[in-house]
Amino acid sequence: MYGDWYAQSDLGMRFVDAHIHLSDEEYSGCENEVVEEAKNANVVALVSNSMDLKSSRKTLELAKQYPGSVYAALGIHPLTVNNLAENELHQTLDLISEQSQKKLLVAIGEIGLDSKYVEIWDKQLKVFDLMLHLAERLNLPVIIHSRGTTAQIVDMLPSYNVKKVLLHWFSNPMSALSKAIDNGFYISEGAPTVYSNGIRDIVKKIPLSSLLTETDGPVRFFKPPFKGKRTTPAFIPTIVSAIAELKETDAENVAEHVAKNFQNFFGIKLGQTH
Ligand SMILES: [Zn+2]
Repeated sequence: MYGDWYAQSDLGMRFVDAHIHLSDEEYSGCENEVVEEAKNANVVALVSNSMDLKSSRKTLELAKQYPGSVYAALGIHPLTVNNLAENELHQTLDLISEQSQKKLLVAIGEIGLDSKYVEIWDKQLKVFDLMLHLAERLNLPVIIHSRGTTAQIVDMLPSYNVKKVLLHWFSNPMSALSKAIDNGFYISEGAPTVYSNGIRDIVKKIPLSSLLTETDGPVRFFKPPFKGKRTTPAFIPTIVSAIAELKETDAENVAEHVAKNFQNFFGIKLGQTH
C-alpha cells in the first residue's frame, strides 16, 4: 500500500510522531487517511501542534476524534504572531488554561523564535515569553521552534521554571546541543536524519535517552525516499531505521527508547485512550 521504500515495521515495534500539524489545511479532508496510515505503520501516537487560535481549536477536535492516537499541543507559532490580534492571543491563552487539566492537551507548542522574521522580533519575544510563563503556571511541557535562535533559546530557558523542553528539528549550532542535553531537554528529529549529513552528525551526538522522532508534516521533503510524497507519520519507521544505523544498534532498541521518552515527556501511556 505504501510502496516498498518504507522500512519494514515489525509488529512488535511501536513508533511515535512527536511533532506534526494535523490541523493544517494540507491535511484537510484526509485526516482519517493520515491517522490510518500511521496505524498501519505502527505509529501509535501523534502529537499535533497548533499555530494559532483557529488551528488550536481544530487540533482539539482532532484529539477528541482520535482518542489515544492524536494528542494536542497548543500554542502560537512565531510565524503567526505578525497578524495576531490582542484578543486572539488572550483567547488562545485562555483555551490552553481551560484545557490544561484535560488529557487531550499534552504540551504547549509550537512556540519559539525565528530569526528569519526580524521585523516582528519584539512581538515574537513577547508572545514566546507569555507562552513560557503559561507553561510554568500550568506545569506543561513545551515544544520549541528555534530557527536561527537555538543558542539564544537554550541560554534563556533555564531562567524559566519550565520542566520539560523539546527542541524540534534541532539543526545547529553544535555548541548548543551539549548545553541542551545537559539541561535535560529532549530533541526531536525527522526525515532529514535519512539524507542530511548535518542532521546525521547531530543525531550521532544525541543520546537515545534524549531523542524523539517527528515528521513536522505537512512540511515536504525533497530528497529521496521522501521526494514527491505527502508527509505522513508512516515515514517514522524509515527515520528510526536511519537512527539505528547511525547509532550502530537495531531499530527495536531505538523504537523502545523513543517510545519511553515520548511517554515520559508527554505523560502519556501508549495504548490507552484518553
Ligand atoms: Zn512544526
